[in-house]
Amino acid sequence: MDIFGFSIQPGERLCRYIKVGELACFSDIRIPLLVARGKTAGPTLWLTGAVHGDELNGLWAMRRFFWDLDLEKLRGILVMTPLLNPLAFLAGNKVSQVDYLDMDQQFPGNPRGLYSERIPYIVFSELKQKADYVIDFHTLGHPYSATPYTVSKIVAGASEETIAKAFAMARVFGVYPNCRVDVASAKGELPGTTSGALDILCMQHNIPCFMAEMGGGGRWDDEAINIAYRGIKNVMLYLKMLDGEYQQPGRQLIITSRGFLRSNSGGLVRMAVNPGTFVKAGELLATVYSFWEELEQLKAEQDVFVIGTRFQPVVSSGDRLAFVGYEWQEMDWGNGNGE
Ligand SMILES: [Zn+2]
Repeated sequence: MDIFGFSIQPGERLCRYIKVGELACFSDIRIPLLVARGKTAGPTLWLTGAVHGDELNGLWAMRRFFWDLDLEKLRGILVMTPLLNPLAFLAGNKVSQVDYLDMDQQFPGNPRGLYSERIPYIVFSELKQKADYVIDFHTLGHPYSATPYTVSKIVAGASEETIAKAFAMARVFGVYPNCRVDVASAKGELPGTTSGALDILCMQHNIPCFMAEMGGGGRWDDEAINIAYRGIKNVMLYLKMLDGEYQQPGRQLIITSRGFLRSNSGGLVRMAVNPGTFVKAGELLATVYSFWEELEQLKAEQDVFVIGTRFQPVVSSGDRLAFVGYEWQEMDWGNGNGE
């Protein structure tokens, strides 16, 4: 078994940097790789993080999980590429300042392309050959707070089995809100859902994949980190990569339509709601103020589930105030997951 050309034996851990480019100041651009191989054979679960450079909680959960893992109990291989976008990470931003491209819209990448196209090419070329399952860690951007949630997609070209497995993995991850996005009908719902996203490319290669969205960006959120840690473990129990029974999730919210609510004014926002709550039609979501006026009251036009809210109070017209679910159903485990 080798990964990115590094060989790894049963019962070993491997930590290496992969060179993915060079800077004008003659330094290499590198991304970290962590691999743990169990003593017995099994599937390969690949975890990715920080394809958006300010989305940090997943990578700390990975780091903790990797060093806590008992290789005697691991079946198969756990691969982590926790930091896919080092220049955006350096800038503390979603995208890098070399090409301003959303790296999660560039998969499968281009070996002769821009910075944000080359890393997807290097990583995806290896991942598509080696991974049986993928979890892609994100957060909302650094101006937002959010309740942890998952996203699994229905992708044309993926088998029914792949779609069902990705959905089941997302639910076993264990958080209450789970977005289920039909890519064919979700065009324009969110940037990045329709092409070039890592999870969509994985699904098209019949590698079940979901996105774990772990709170807000640009800072540690220990609750989200702990949820991510338990989520990785429960998915591995579910995939029989660890001994023991996985914990069946309780009743979950399956969100099938979502969107952003935006400010129409420029000023200072005070949010009236918290992430992870239901808001009824007509209830106040946020108020935007100038220094002597109330400029705008944003009220829910229909019942919504609040996934994320603005954390950073300075807003211009068009800025996002909240990310909400519009349509959902509650589902018990055993319903619609092929179990
Ligand atoms: Zn992201």
